[in-house]
Amino acid sequence: MQCSRCAEPAVIDQPYASLHLCEAHFRDSVRERVRRDWHRQAPRMRAGVVAVALSGGKDSAVALSLTQAYFRRRPSVRLVALSVDEGIAGYRPATLVRAQELARSLGVEHRVISASSTLGTTTDEAAANLKGEIPCSFCGVWRRQMLNRGATELGADLLVLGFNLDDLAQTVLMNLARADIGRLTRMAPHPTRQPGLVPRIAPLSSIPEREVFLYARLAGLPFDHGECPHAGAAARNVYREVLWRLEEEFPGTRHSLLRTREAVTRAILASAPPGAPGRCVDCGEPAGGERCRACEYRRQMDKPLMEEAG
Ligand code: SF4
Ligand SMILES: [Zn+2]
Ligand SMILES: [Zn+2]
Repeated sequence: MQCSRCAEPAVIDQPYASLHLCEAHFRDSVRERVRRDWHRQAPRMRAGVVAVALSGGKDSAVALSLTQAYFRRRPSVRLVALSVDEGIAGYRPATLVRAQELARSLGVEHRVISASSTLGTTTDEAAANLKGEIPCSFCGVWRRQMLNRGATELGADLLVLGFNLDDLAQTVLMNLARADIGRLTRMAPHPTRQPGLVPRIAPLSSIPEREVFLYARLAGLPFDHGECPHAGAAARNVYREVLWRLEEEFPGTRHSLLRTREAVTRAILASAPPGAPGRCVDCGEPAGGERCRACEYRRQMDKPLMEEAG
């Protein structure tokens, strides 16, 4: 198959755009879509601190590399990569090595936040103790809190997340299926700043997962291919499969889901702007109720609050 824009052979097809692209045009198209998303999601970012969540996987590797390229000519923006070590044996150590390798090769400052020293527990330990819970539930909540705290300590203006189009479309579908409109409206990117929460943006939101993977490979970025041993139980796996099938039959479904989320969020925020979140009585982080969900999970494990978490 030939590239839709030149005579070179295509390396990827984009059924949702009716295009086939060669390597050069594909890489240009990824960079251009990410650049447009930066403009759309954070139009006024000229100076300050940008924290980038870096897991060591392909998505955050591409997010960090393109964020670094985007700000290359703006020394007034300080970039810091933040990794979370949830304590998952056989998985996280290898991804952290890749994360460090990438940050070093790009010349980006890198910090690692460890669950065992900030939360007093790890995902492995919780998975062994909280038998009725799906590990991704508490692990995701804890990671979000650790990233927010790490970004807050840096004085970050933004926290960049590597969510790709598939991730976000799956989340929209899950929230719609569960009638969880609150969570739907709280998804990144965040148009406004909430007290205690560093606004999160997702510059890969228009790039499908397989294109992120191809871009990372073609750009020679170091990333880890491993899969978390706790991932098998996640409900997201079902939504991933449903969405693949929908996208195959109806190209463009993922983009439509993101537009649905934007329209619903706009309408809800226009009629009822969110109030400032309360504070958790245990740790002081933003919370919907008396306690944040991170502390609720920690209490289920009977874990005392670590000093630095207060
Ligand atoms: S797959 Fe689930 S348990 Fe594993 S790191 Fe991700 S959120 Fe945590
Ligand atoms: Zn071409
Ligand atoms: Zn708390």
